[in-house]
Order: sequence, then structure tokens, then C-alpha cells
Amino acid sequence: MSVAYQTVIGLEIHAQLKTQSKMFCGCANIYGTEPNSQTCPVCLGLPGALPSINQDAVSMALCLGLALEANITPESFFYRKHYFYPDLPKGFQITQGPRAIIEQGKVVIAGDRSVRGTSAPITVGIERAHLEEDSGKSQHSDRQQASLVDLNRAGVPLLEIVSAPDLASPQEAFDYLKTMHQLVTSLDICDGNMEEGSFRCDANVSVRPQGQTHYGVRVEIKNLNSFRYVKHALEYEVQRHIQLYETGQTPTQETRGWNSDTNQTYSQRSKEAVMDYRYFPEPDLPPLVISSQDLENSRRRLPELPQARAARYRRDYQLSEYDSEMLVSSPSFSHYFEALILARVSPKSACTWMLGEISRILNEHDTNITSLGLSSERLAELIHLVDDGVVTRSSAKESILPKLLGSTLSPKEIVAQDGLAQVSDSAAIQGLVQEVLSSSPQQLAQYRAGKLSLKGYFVGQVMKKGKGQLNAAVVNNLLDEMLK
Ligand code: ADP
Ligand code: MG
Ligand code: ZN
Repeated sequence: MSVAYQTVIGLEIHAQLKTQSKMFCGCANIYGTEPNSQTCPVCLGLPGALPSINQDAVSMALCLGLALEANITPESFFYRKHYFYPDLPKGFQITQGPRAIIEQGKVVIAGDRSVRGTSAPITVGIERAHLEEDSGKSQHSDRQQASLVDLNRAGVPLLEIVSAPDLASPQEAFDYLKTMHQLVTSLDICDGNMEEGSFRCDANVSVRPQGQTHYGVRVEIKNLNSFRYVKHALEYEVQRHIQLYETGQTPTQETRGWNSDTNQTYSQRSKEAVMDYRYFPEPDLPPLVISSQDLENSRRRLPELPQARAARYRRDYQLSEYDSEMLVSSPSFSHYFEALILARVSPKSACTWMLGEISRILNEHDTNITSLGLSSERLAELIHLVDDGVVTRSSAKESILPKLLGSTLSPKEIVAQDGLAQVSDSAAIQGLVQEVLSSSPQQLAQYRAGKLSLKGYFVGQVMKKGKGQLNAAVVNNLLDEMLK
């Protein structure tokens, strides 16, 4: 494609909060029970029922606000957002109005090198995060030729987190979503279960020719419930927009859905058809007032946040800024790193392995450290074997690590079983060096004639013969001696 286009993406994330009870009533907030068993007059929207604010949900929202270094609005309000939908018996959703409990936050992610030319960290603005209630769920049954409504989800607390349009590619949207997922799960305010819909997202995307100052036409893709779908739906949509522009057309501003069977987005409704929600303040709820005590309580509930953690790695482990940032990129990743250190691996070695081999494997398998099937104990044992000189780094990487992933064997068992111990025995190595020197008369002559750089060649040949198991220092010393 000759004209370069710039992609602009902003995400709206809906995170269900892990409270005991619903947002405005005492019904249990649990998933997967008998339809309509967790309901009461408030969440059924019966006339005269009075909602009240779940303070636990407020306190969880404050945790996120603090983690995002956001402004906490001292006084915000609940509003009624009206629309008709069978799974919304009240005829309106209680959400927040022009002011949200959380405003102007930020989160740092890695930039997408393919569009920015560098993977230096970028700051993604969080416009707002507001509290609201979830709707019920409709189930369409062909067999019964009916649509059924389950209101167990009606009134479940949601935090809607709205990013600024700061994301420049589907990959960045993916990374941002991961980071937010890690944040809400490490704050323990959301269970993060995307299949059950506890963490879902609407993706807004527009495309414009490079250099154009105003945004292109925005399309919103609704209800994406997996990281992969977000990325694929955005990739599809970006290409669709580019094709339209390339053929002299413009996209329609609309809401679209994602069909994961055909891997395509499809039009749901155009923006013009969107009704007026007739927002007005919820008369049955008091203002949402945040006291300094509330904030203090939430602050105490915060675990160590990624940035503080990175600072600690720099200070306590003398790791570089870049390495520290990479290690805290997800809570599970940094917990794993710390588990290695608890198993007495040196911070430097732990870091090298985590950011080197382990990251490479995670990328290759498109998975995360928790699902990799390699406990920190087993990796720690492997690193110790290398650091203690029992096996070479190359045996560890090429022979032992792949076996660790596919089995429950311990590194020591693999070393014993496959005879992978490092060879430091001079006599054995001497034989190999001799073989290499005698089979390379030409190179030997050149070396003797002064081409000293050929030593590297000999080292390589000897190591190859030793299947990567030779002690490199011993090989080097022996070569020096025998080349004299
Ligand atoms: P709405 O309420 O209609 O969804 P908002 O102004 O709240 O509109 O924006 C929703 C999301 O759309 C935000 O995440 C924002 O970053 C994103 N957004 C706004 N403009 C654009 C654009 N031109 N391209 C892509 N995303 C955009
Ligand atoms: Mg929207
Ligand atoms: Zn209820």
C-alpha cells in the first residue's frame, strides 16, 4: 500500500467488580446459578424499590483510580440512561453522568515498533472510569422459538474504563487490554474471566492518511470477549477502512459486531439511528461523595504496583530501567521472576532467562507464564545447573528446556537421562581439538601464517563436535596451547 495510513484506537473496557453483592441491592453477585435466582425488587426494577450504593464497589473503583494515578472526583453522581431492552426491566441503566468517579488516569505500555519505529514505552490516557450496573442476559432458543431473560446479571457492578484514542495499532490495543487485565486482576477487583464476560471490551477505531490532522470516521466494534478477537477484529476493520479510502469511499460511522466464525465484522446499527438516552440524575441515590478516609482505605488495600516494583528491582537488584520495566509488564511474570530469586537464583541470571529464552518461548507459543507448564522451581533448578557449571548454557537452552516443557521430568533427571552434563575433562576435549586441527590443515596453515581470527573457527568446530556440552573455557585454553 503506497499511501501510509495512521490507525487510531480507543477502548472501552467493562470490568465486572468482584463484590459479594450487586451494585445497588443485596443480591449475590455470582455467576452460573439457576436463571433469575439472584434477583430482588431492586434489580428487577419493580416500582417503588429503592437502590443503595455498594460501598465495596466504590472502594474497588478507588483502587483502580489510585493505580492509574487518576484524579478521584470528590463528588460525582449517578444518572439514569434510558433505553428499552428486554434484559433491562427498569427501562434505564444506572450509570454515572458527566463526571465519573475516576478521571484523567494513565497507564504505560510498550509502543508498537512496526508503527512507531521504536518499542519505547508509551503512555495511554484513561479518560474516565465510571461505576454502573450490568444488564441481564437474553437467551435465544430456536427449539422453544422463544427468547428467555436471565436477570441474575442485572445490577452486577461494572467499572467502565474509557481510554483516550492513544493506541496506534491493533497490537497496541492488545497490549493495552492485557495490561489493564493484569492491573484489575492484580488489584483483585475483577476476576478477569473473559469467557464469562467479567472483562469485555468495545473497540473504537478510525484510520486517516498520514499527516491528516483530523480523525477519520470512527467505528465501534461491540462486545469483544477475548484478547485475540480484539486484535483480529481491529486488524480486519483497519484493512476495511483503508480499502474504502483507497477506492474513494468513506466508512460509515456505526456500531459493528465481530463474527469469530467468518473472521469479519458486520454492521449492527449506524450512529444516526442511536436514540437519545435522556440522561438525568438518578433521584433515588445520593451524590457519590469520596472522603479522604475512603481514599486512605483503598490506598491501604493496594498491592505493590508495577512502577513501584520496577523501582525496587532497580534499587535492590541493580537491574537496568529497561529490564525492570519488562519484568513488571505483568504481575504473573514478575511474581515468577521473584520466585526464581526466592529459589536463590541470582537476579541477573533470573532476569536474563526471563527476558531471553522464556520470553521468546512465550511469544512463540502465544501464551503466558502461568499457562506455560513450567514451574519456577524447575526453571530455578535449570538455571542453577548452568550457573554451577554442571551443564552449558547451550545444552540448557537447546536440549533441556524444550524437554522440560513437554514433560514433568526435573532438569537433573533430563541431564542424567540424556547424558547432558558439561564436559570439562581436558583429556576428552583434547582428543576433539586434535581431531578438528587435523581435519582442517588449510585453516591451520593460515592461522600459523598469522590469521589469528581463525581461532574462533576452531572453537566453533570443537564445540560442534562436543554437541554444545563442552566447557568453553577449557576448550579455549586447550586450543591456545595446541595452536602454539
Ligand atoms: P461514545 O460515548 O459515543 O462511545 P466517547 O467519546 O465516550 O464516545 O468515546 C469512546 C471511545 O472512543 C474512547 O475510548 C475514545 O478513545 C475512542 N475514540 C474517540 N474518537 C476516536 C477516533 N476518532 N478513533 C478511534 N477511537 C476514538
Ligand atoms: Mg461507546
Ligand atoms: Zn437484587
